[in-house]
Amino acid sequence: MDANDYHLGPPVPLVLFMRCLSKLTCWASLLCVALTASAASPTETIGVYSERKEFLVQPLFDQFSRETGIKVQFITDQAPVLIERMAAEGKNTRADLFIAVDAGNLWLAAERGLLKPLNSKLLTARIPASLRDPGNRWFALSQRARTIMYSTARVKPAELSTYAALSDPKWRGRLCLRSSKKVYNQSLVAMQIKALGEANTEKMVRGWVANLAAPVFADDTLLLQAIQSGQCDVAIANTYYLGRLLKETPGFAVAPFWANQATGGVHVNISGAGVTTHAKNPVGAQRLLEWLSDKEAQKDFAMLNFEYPVDASIALGPILAAWGPFKADPINVVEAGKLQSAAVKLMDRAGYK
Ligand code: FE
Repeated sequence: MDANDYHLGPPVPLVLFMRCLSKLTCWASLLCVALTASAASPTETIGVYSERKEFLVQPLFDQFSRETGIKVQFITDQAPVLIERMAAEGKNTRADLFIAVDAGNLWLAAERGLLKPLNSKLLTARIPASLRDPGNRWFALSQRARTIMYSTARVKPAELSTYAALSDPKWRGRLCLRSSKKVYNQSLVAMQIKALGEANTEKMVRGWVANLAAPVFADDTLLLQAIQSGQCDVAIANTYYLGRLLKETPGFAVAPFWANQATGGVHVNISGAGVTTHAKNPVGAQRLLEWLSDKEAQKDFAMLNFEYPVDASIALGPILAAWGPFKADPINVVEAGKLQSAAVKLMDRAGYK
C-alpha cells in the first residue's frame, strides 16, 4: 500500500457551508448533513509505519481486523526513511504504531522522541526485559539470530567457535560478509563492543577484513549462495535467510553454527514496535501491539519469516527445530542502539566497507 492510499473524507459539509452563505434555504440541508455525519460512527482505524515488509504484516493485520473490526492502514519503507518522515510530520503524522526490524532503529526512533512509554502489564509480562526498551517505548515481537554460517561440504562444526575466531588466519580467503552499512552488522559489532571492549572488537573486525574471500555483499541471501557455490566457506548471516533458501531447496548445503555458546551467546536482534508520540489512536495502537504479542499472533509473526518467537514456549517449525536450541546473548538489545555510532566508526577505521 502506498502512502497515497490513505484517504481523507470528502469535504461535502464545507462545500454546502460556502454555498449557503447566500442562501438561507440551504441551512436546512446543511443541518441535515451535519446530523447524518454525527450519527454515522466512522470505522476505527490504526495507522502503521512498518519497516517489516507487506507480505509479513498484511496477514496479521487482516486477522486483527477480522477479530476486532478495526481497520489497519499501513505503509512500508526503510526504518530511517520512516523515522525522518514521522519527525517531519510531527503532530500530523498518520503513524499510530511504528514497526522496525532492528533494535538500533527502534532505539533511534525512541531517542528522537517519536515513541511514547506504554503502561501495559500484558507487554511487560510477555516480552523479556532484555528484548524491550527499559523505558517501555518499544517491544520485541520476534527474535532474529545473526550467527555463523558454514559450508556443510567444506567446514566441520568443530572448526568453529566465536565471531572473533573468524578473524583467525586459518579463514584467510574463506570468509564472506555483508556490507558494514547494513544496520544488522552495525548492531552485531555494537554488541561485540559491549561484550569485548573496543580494542578487541577492532582487532576482530580487522581480522575479518583480512580474511575476506570477496568484496562485501549487499544481501544475506547472496552471502549464503556464495557459500553454496564455493566462493567462500563461512559467513555471518541472519538465520531466516537460510530458512527461506532451505524451504525452496531442501538440500542447500549451508548450516548455521551457534556462535559464542561458551561466552555470551548468539547475537540476537529483534523485530519490534512502539506506539508513536503523536498517535491519533494510541489506545487502538496499544491494542494492536498487545494483540501481536499474544502467543498465536507471535507465532505467525515469527514463522512467516523463519524467525524465533519471543516466547520460548512456542513450538518451532521443522526447519528451525532441526537447527537445535542455542543460547542467546543476554545483553539488552538497547545496547545495539547506544553503541551504533561507535560501531560504525570502528568498522570504518578497520577498513570494513
Ligand atoms: Fe533482513
